[in-house]
This record gives sequence, C-alpha cells and structure tokens, in this order.
Amino acid sequence: MSAVDTARDRVRASAGPELVERLEHLDALRAARPRDDEAPASAPDAGAQNDYDVALVGGGLSLLYAPMLAMRGLRVAVFDRGTAGLTHREWNASWSELAALVRAGIVDDETLAALVLARYDHGICRWHQGGTYPVTKVLDCAVDAATLMRRVRARAEALGVAVFDRHTLTGFASGEGGVAMRFSTAAGAVRTVSARLMLDARGAASPSATADLLCPTVGGVLEGVAEGDAPDEIDPRVGEILVTTEGVEAGRQHIWEAFPAGPGETTVYLFFYDRVERVEAGSLMRLYARFFETLPRYKRGDVRLVRPTFGYITGWSRLTPAPRAPAPRVVLVGDAAARHSPLTYCGFGATLRSLAPAVERIADALANHQEHTLGAVVHDTALHAGTGALAHMIASPPTDPSRAGELNTLLDAAFSTLHAMGDARFGAMLRDEMPVGDFVRFLSRTSVRHPRVYPEVFRVLGAMGVSRWGAGLARGLWGASP
Ligand SMILES: Cc1cc2nc3c(=O)[nH]c(=O)nc-3n(C[C@H](O)[C@H](O)[C@H](O)COP(=O)(O)OP(=O)(O)OC[C@H]3O[C@@H](n4cnc5c(N)ncnc54)[C@H](O)[C@@H]3O)c2cc1C
Repeated sequence: MSAVDTARDRVRASAGPELVERLEHLDALRAARPRDDEAPASAPDAGAQNDYDVALVGGGLSLLYAPMLAMRGLRVAVFDRGTAGLTHREWNASWSELAALVRAGIVDDETLAALVLARYDHGICRWHQGGTYPVTKVLDCAVDAATLMRRVRARAEALGVAVFDRHTLTGFASGEGGVAMRFSTAAGAVRTVSARLMLDARGAASPSATADLLCPTVGGVLEGVAEGDAPDEIDPRVGEILVTTEGVEAGRQHIWEAFPAGPGETTVYLFFYDRVERVEAGSLMRLYARFFETLPRYKRGDVRLVRPTFGYITGWSRLTPAPRAPAPRVVLVGDAAARHSPLTYCGFGATLRSLAPAVERIADALANHQEHTLGAVVHDTALHAGTGALAHMIASPPTDPSRAGELNTLLDAAFSTLHAMGDARFGAMLRDEMPVGDFVRFLSRTSVRHPRVYPEVFRVLGAMGVSRWGAGLARGLWGASP
C-alpha cells in the first residue's frame, strides 16, 4: 500500500464520509479551475421581486455574515454544496480579535469564553537550525470551531435565514434587478433562486479565487503528543506559530504549527506556500502522507488523529491583479477575496475584522439601492503590500539541493530582527497591525543582518516585481488605500 493510500485510510477512519468527500473534491478542483458555466437563461430585470436580499453562497467560515445581515432586517439565504456550518478547520486567533464575535451579537461574553478551548502564555516561531522567537497575543486562543459554527447556524436560522444544504452553485446571471443563481442539489434536481446581491463565499473553490498564491494545509486534532518543554514535545502553555524541521525538500519549504487544544489534545498542521499554478490535483492527500511520515521529526508520542482538518488557503501577493467579482451584484468575501494576510494566511482573524465594516457597507448599499456598485468589502491593510512579496519568496525557494537551508537562514534573520524590535511590533506584524513605516524599518534591518537577501529578492520577484513591491510600500507609507 502506498503512503498516500495509507494516509487516505487514516483520514477516512477519523473524518467520516462527508469530510473525505470534501477533501477529495478540493483536491480534484486543482486539476481544472472551477467554472460557473451553467447560468440560468435570464437575469432579473429592473424592478424585479427577488426571493432574497442576499444569497450567501458557501456556508463555511463566512456563514458568520448570515446572522449579522439578518439582524439588519435583510432577507438572507445560505447555500452550501455540503452542510453549511460543518467545518473541517480549527481556528486560533488573539483574544482581541475574538471580541468581534461579541460586538457582532453572535455570542455573548460567557459563550465566547466557553468556546475558547485553550489560552497560551505566548507563541513561538522557530526556523530550522536557528533561534526560537517568542511573541505574545498572537493566535493565543484556540477556538472550538465546530461548536462556534453550529451556534452561528442556529443563530442565523433563529433570525429567519433560509439554509440550503447540498446545493452547489453551477452558474449565475446578473441583471439590472438582481442576480439569478442556478444550484444543483444532491438529489439531482435544479433550483433557481434570485437575490439582490450574491456573496461568493466559496473559498478557494470559487472561480473568482484568482489570487496568485496557495497554501495547502493538512493536519488535525491529535491525541498522544508528548507533553513537556523540549522542541519535540508540546507545552500546553505555548502555541507554536511557525516551525520548520528541515530545509527545502522537493522544491518546498514545509512548515509546522501546533496549538494545544482541549486537555490531552493538540492541533497540528503541516503546510507549504506555493504559486497557485504549481499546486497539482491530489496535493492535500500527498501532504497528508508527508504529515504522517515526518511528524516524528517535529513531535514525539504515540499519536492518534482524532479529527482531520485541511484545506487550500488562498494568498494574494499584491504583485498581481486582485481577485475581483466577475459581475455587478456579486461580492467576494473570505478566501475568494483573499484580502487576508499573504504571510500568515489567517483568514479567520481577517474575517473577524471584516464582519462589521462589510455588513455595514452591504446593508447601506442595499438600503440605498446601490448594491450593483459594491466593490471589495472585506478588510485589507497597506501592510499586505509589503508582506505579499515575502510570501512570494517563501513560495519560490531555491531548488538547488546545495541551497536547501538558505530560506530558513533568511527567515531566521527576519524573525530575529522582528524579535529585536520588541514584542509589541513583532505581534503587530503577525496580527496585520504593523504600520508600513515599521515594516520598512524591519526590511532594512533584516537586509543589514542578511545582505544575501538582495540577489534572492531579484531572483524571485524580478525587476518588475521589485518595482511593484516598492510602489505598494510607497502607497502604504504615504497613506493611499491599498
Ligand atoms: C486547516 C486549516 C486551518 C486554519 N486555521 C486558521 C487559524 O487558526 N486562524 C485563522 O485565522 N485562519 C485559519 N485558517 C484559514 C481559514 O480557515 C480560512 O481563511 C476560512 O475558512 C475561509 O473562509 P471562507 O468562508 O472563505 O471559505 P471556507 O471556510 O473554505 O468555506 C467555503 C464553503 O463553500 C462551499 N462551497 C464550495 N463550492 C461551492 C459551490 N459551488 N456551491 C455552494 N457551496 C460551495 C464549501 O462547501 C465550503 O463550506 C485555516 C485554514 C485551514 C485550511
């Protein structure tokens, strides 16, 4: 039996059929980009009566929008190709980011506290053969994602949101009076629905998810990881944010994360950054094979996979055109929009930041009959114009085996610089809060520590990429919107 087959069996044993189907579907989508090519015959004319104000297509993390929109008095429907609110992720965020759930009216303080499975004293980043860099208030709360999403769905339904499971969007037609959407159901039927606005929340599976970087991520909740404070043990008080255990192998720099969860449980991920066009079908399952094979390099113990978590997370370097909605009355949210950090890929934190302003803009546009003019609504920050190029470099490591350790050396120089800039600035960078001026200081200090970075930057980005990067940073420094 091949390592991939063995991995499939291990995932299947703990995932159950629906999650295995999701994984295989996500993997198959890398073979040919998805298309919305079965549009309804006509689109709503001006003045048409639509079934809903907002159709949220995709009930993953972005399901968070549904109760908030309903609280604004809007008629909302959610459609998901599987079960809306059934998540195959675990989420970490900082406490200050999580407070958005309370402000949004989705949970109260007490419920939020109960949803946090673990809180850490600090997190660490460690690059192979380099130092260990502690930082506080970054991804330091482990959230019970399954319970959160179950509550969000229940809250949405209590507010009158119509939820349609096993409805796959196959095409849409946007007109003067609304957008008509065609769904195929699991039973083989076709349902056509109209709304004034469609939110595309299909994540990396959206045809509009055109961001240039991609982060295949696998892992899950494990039991049996040895506890302690050695590097190959897990300390329940410490979150491991970014850790490498070797150099570039097979053209990729693999990175680990480990977050202590409930008692005796640890969420462990393995991922790599890549350019989207290089990620082939089946990458998640192959990465699972590597996960099981190389886990002993990272953590020891008699480990059992309790709950698998996986996905492709989009990333936009800001060096290529932005993902944008393909038609008026269609708005991208979540990973489809890819406005989250291209360096940390923290889409949960980014969605928490987006919720209130995005709902405000959507509700205002609908109230003023301006929904056809809505552009990007999700949170973005000028910092991403800087971190995007770094992510592009991590996605394009040198392939020559004699240079396998160079990326780790560069990252170690970068993180030792960040650490030396102080905990507040280090944390701000990883929470997407660092001002561009501090980021430029970080770059220049890193290049003093590690002058070999210059030729590497030109090798990966080329002259055009370097000038785009500089222009993005200049816009951020002088205050133009990203
Ligand atoms: C393993 C893993 C761990 C992560 N951990 C963290 C973390 O700790 N902190 C953090 O900030 N971020 C984390 N992220 C990132 C975060 O989970 C994503 O950014 C977030 O889930 C994106 O939300 P979304 O709503 O855009 O898409 P998703 O949550 O991916 O949901 C997409 C939904 O669309 C549905 N869908 C797809 N196609 C169709 C169709 N044609 N018709 C109808 N429905 C469709 C799918 O069934 C799915 O339910 C993690 C990601 C992964 C993969």
